[in-house]
Amino acid sequence: MDCPKCKSPLVNGLLSDMLLTKHCRECEGDWISRLNYQTWKSERVEHPPNPDVLTKNYHLPYTPSHLDAKTAPCPECSSVMARGKITLKEPFYLEHCLTCGGIWCDRGEWEVLEQLKLDTNIAQIFSGVWQAQVRASHANELERQAVIDKVGIEMAQRVFDLADILEKQPNGDFAAAYLMRRFKGEKS
Ligand SMILES: [Zn+2]
Ligand SMILES: [Zn+2]
Repeated sequence: MDCPKCKSPLVNGLLSDMLLTKHCRECEGDWISRLNYQTWKSERVEHPPNPDVLTKNYHLPYTPSHLDAKTAPCPECSSVMARGKITLKEPFYLEHCLTCGGIWCDRGEWEVLEQLKLDTNIAQIFSGVWQAQVRASHANELERQAVIDKVGIEMAQRVFDLADILEKQPNGDFAAAYLMRRFKGEKS
């Protein structure tokens, strides 16, 4: 089997001490077959998927491989591989063959997935629901940042705390509407 990215022959490799792969010595990518992934995963505690993890680790220091941008056919069955975006400041794509179920990681990608605890949940990265949740999480964080920029961190924290409290109240929306009215009244 040859490397889908640089065509060098793949050799036996190992990730996370236990996960058997086919490794490319040239570009340092790894091919994880469906069977090897399932075997490895069955011996692990599955982390519950958390779409906020990408927002919280947005600035994770990582330089994607220059081969990440290159699309490639599955090294096992030659099918076109799906690309699942990992939205960090330095985004990268994980590749997954939907036909044979294998996973391609360019150099360093697996280690990032491990750090983000996404390593036991590869399939969800390719789901539309998950990608939408990640986008919502990022948008939410941008909004929070905008509030901090406008009113300062101290006031912003009080606003966030109040929002959290109101969210848990059965009539929280009523109190929020009161606040909105106060400001509308002041401006007109
Ligand atoms: Zn390679
Ligand atoms: Zn395949």
